[in-house]
Amino acid sequence: MGIDGKADRIPRLRPRARPRAPAARAHPRLGGDAHGCPVNNFIPEWNDLVWRGQWKEAWIRLAKTNNFPEFTGRVCPAPCEGSCTVAIDLPAVNIKMIEEAIADRAFAEGWVKADPPPLRTGKRVAVVGSGPAGLAAAAQLNRAGHEVTVFERADRIGGLLMYGIPNMKLDKKLVDRRVQLMSEEGVRFVTRVEVGKDLPGEQLLREYEAIVLAGGATHARELPVEGRSLVGIHPAMDFLTANTKSLLDSRLKDGQHISAKDKHVVVIGGGDTGTDCVGTAIRHGCRSLTQLEILPRPPEVRAADNPWPQWPKTYRLDYGQEEAKALWGSDPRVYSVMTKRFLGDEQRNVRELLYVGVEWVKGPDGRFGPREISGTEKVIPAELVLLAMGFLGPEKPLLQQLGVKVDERGNVWTDQTKMTSVPGVFAAGDMARGQSLVVWAIREGRHAAQHVDRYLSYGDTVLPP
Ligand SMILES: Cc1cc2nc3c(=O)[nH]c(=O)nc-3n(C[C@H](O)[C@H](O)[C@H](O)COP(=O)(O)OP(=O)(O)OC[C@H]3O[C@@H](n4cnc5c(N)ncnc54)[C@H](O)[C@@H]3O)c2cc1C
Repeated sequence: MGIDGKADRIPRLRPRARPRAPAARAHPRLGGDAHGCPVNNFIPEWNDLVWRGQWKEAWIRLAKTNNFPEFTGRVCPAPCEGSCTVAIDLPAVNIKMIEEAIADRAFAEGWVKADPPPLRTGKRVAVVGSGPAGLAAAAQLNRAGHEVTVFERADRIGGLLMYGIPNMKLDKKLVDRRVQLMSEEGVRFVTRVEVGKDLPGEQLLREYEAIVLAGGATHARELPVEGRSLVGIHPAMDFLTANTKSLLDSRLKDGQHISAKDKHVVVIGGGDTGTDCVGTAIRHGCRSLTQLEILPRPPEVRAADNPWPQWPKTYRLDYGQEEAKALWGSDPRVYSVMTKRFLGDEQRNVRELLYVGVEWVKGPDGRFGPREISGTEKVIPAELVLLAMGFLGPEKPLLQQLGVKVDERGNVWTDQTKMTSVPGVFAAGDMARGQSLVVWAIREGRHAAQHVDRYLSYGDTVLPP
């Protein structure tokens, strides 16, 4: 039965013996959080194989659980290292670097080849969004023999792997190389098509037996303070996206990016996105750089309520801050501050920013919140301001068009099988869990793919969790 309740138009070509894949393994949880590797990589096994010089076997083990180790080996913050047993009292094993080395060796040796499925099922699946969740779902569903089309509204495939994480952190040639392999395996990619606008959601429901929504959590948090409309204040993603596009189109020669050259730059927000803005502004040749963070500076070592194997919430320098420190002598981050207002010149260009110090206090509802400390106001130069204060969840128009329910946080609601409230429509990645990590998006894409395969294959699946 198709998702519209009608009989299948194309009879299912079932392989005679489809071995059952094991059910998804629950991820280890402690204090409500998951720990260790989200894709359940066989880390001790491939570490040992590398130590023995058995690189090809290490690659085979690595590729079993992760579709794109060449990405995670570069960009993952490595929750595995936080829960590495060696990290109880010593620095963790460098798992991420080993992963990167195995993946690079596999490509260099020619072990990674297009591997189209031997049999096609005739079932059509649409994947909306080409970030790591959509790509992982597409790769897995194609492997199971389904006909997969990935729709992407941008002009290039990759989601935040392409237009988000900057080129110096993840070379876009690696993204293109993977997309090329997937095309050779039979995945169809359609760019510059926004589902819900250029292609109505209803049409997708009619034409495909299943849909995977993997549109990310792109709705950025705003900063509604006085002076916000001044010229020179931009959402971080506008800055990062335009930079990568201009870099790839013309090596920044087309003038289509927001330049930080010779400017006093202020980045508001201390997360990954803020760090990428810092690194990019430095490469443009900015005059000075300040990064404002509303939270207090993390401790040097784990706090008592943040024990191993949890992700250590400790103070560290990411690449952007390390580069700023090398240039100007100190970490550019200012902690426990809140932006109060932007000040501009007669042409309405932003020139300065006023912030105030805050302390974190428990409110009547028991939750911590920032309280201004009077007398701590400070004005700093600001000719380019980049807003990197996080994301509020997925954009809603397509979800409303499809009639998909959202949860209390505004993310797409799914059941245990990643199916949304609309039968046959699944969701994965940031769209379903909020802004997260590449490795979680891969995990979610694989998980959704397994359940889509079950849905299309009468409860059976050939895909691993
Ligand atoms: C600047 C930045 C840096 C980051 N750095 C890191 C990092 O170093 N390491 C890490 O692990 N994580 C990082 N993250 C988080 C990580 O990139 C995301 O968690 C991950 O990419 C989510 O994958 P996804 O597939 O769910 O969505 P996305 O990667 O967001 O992809 C969604 C795609 O869907 C497309 N789309 C949306 N709606 C439609 C529609 N209606 N029709 C067609 N296409 C649509 C979008 O254009 C987009 O290309 C970073 C995030 C940001 C913003």
